[in-house]
Amino acid sequence: MSTVTELPTLAACSFCLKPSTEVRRLVAGPGVYICDQCVALCAQLVDGPPSPPPHLPAWEHAVSVDEALASLPRIAAAGAQVEQHLAGWVRRARVLGATWARIGETLGMTRQSAWERFSGEE
Ligand SMILES: [Zn+2]
Repeated sequence: MSTVTELPTLAACSFCLKPSTEVRRLVAGPGVYICDQCVALCAQLVDGPPSPPPHLPAWEHAVSVDEALASLPRIAAAGAQVEQHLAGWVRRARVLGATWARIGETLGMTRQSAWERFSGEE
């Protein structure tokens, strides 16, 4: 078994990407966070006039290459944070005695796929 040394990661708001050190509060969800400033913005939108529900995924509204590319870093960072949390939960499940078969079953994948994705071994 290989040993992977990981530095403690700073949590960041999944919406604006500000790290926990730059916000007053950071509320944790399942692999995601939202900061007090984003909650306040959401509250303004929720309290505002109703808008029609989105019928298209957000990327379908991009009208230029620059607009589409501008979203990529935020989406990638949010995805990386979720992946990091998933890996952390899997590591913890392993420490607590979960088998790769059970982890795979829980995630809807094979034992082998779970091991390949999360074990850190080649
Ligand atoms: Zn935020």
